[in-house]
Amino acid sequence: MRTEQKSLEEALESLKEINESVCPNDGFLDQLKLFEEMGFKVDTSSPLYRRFRLKLLGQSYKVGEKIGNHVFEDDPGVARQPNPTQESSGKEKTLKTAYRCKKCRRIVAAQDNVIGHTPGEGNSSFEWHDKRKGHTHNKEQDCSSLYVEPLKWMTPAVEDGALEGKLSCIHCGARLGYFNWSGIQCNCGSWITPAFQISKSKVDVSTI
Ligand SMILES: [Zn+2]
Ligand SMILES: [Zn+2]
Repeated sequence: MRTEQKSLEEALESLKEINESVCPNDGFLDQLKLFEEMGFKVDTSSPLYRRFRLKLLGQSYKVGEKIGNHVFEDDPGVARQPNPTQESSGKEKTLKTAYRCKKCRRIVAAQDNVIGHTPGEGNSSFEWHDKRKGHTHNKEQDCSSLYVEPLKWMTPAVEDGALEGKLSCIHCGARLGYFNWSGIQCNCGSWITPAFQISKSKVDVSTI
């Protein structure tokens, strides 16, 4: 229990780095709920944590805080140092899904960066009109876009504080999608807030 408490503190610390106003009143219950949903363990790589972190970031933006470079996730397109222990062990490398710019093949997002959403969630009227017999739920694969965490390559477009803007490939300049701090509605009806959207038609699925 003690170690778990410590890791909760650590999580709060890292969340506070993003949003100082977070503790202890508003958002505290959310944090405890998140902690519970993660099975009383703090896993900073869990999708729940990442989604929550992004939500906080959106709140920080709303109250006028500057979005600093430190909140952007590492660029998956920048080559990482090969892991020597992994290569000498003779084990098969675990391949990760990644998304590449269709035009220049640069990696623009790793699967880990994708913030999932439940198709149709948060827009009941849309769901009502769209519901066809025997086809009650869309799959996320049917969504025309990916929603990702803010990544380092987006910094020039995002860091100047604009509410919304285009996201272009840092290598070839191709238009990949756009971002909007107040949210973007996916073609499935869900609102993603804030949204860093990449059109699936502009990227190829690949592995790294
Ligand atoms: Zn490109
Ligand atoms: Zn969707």
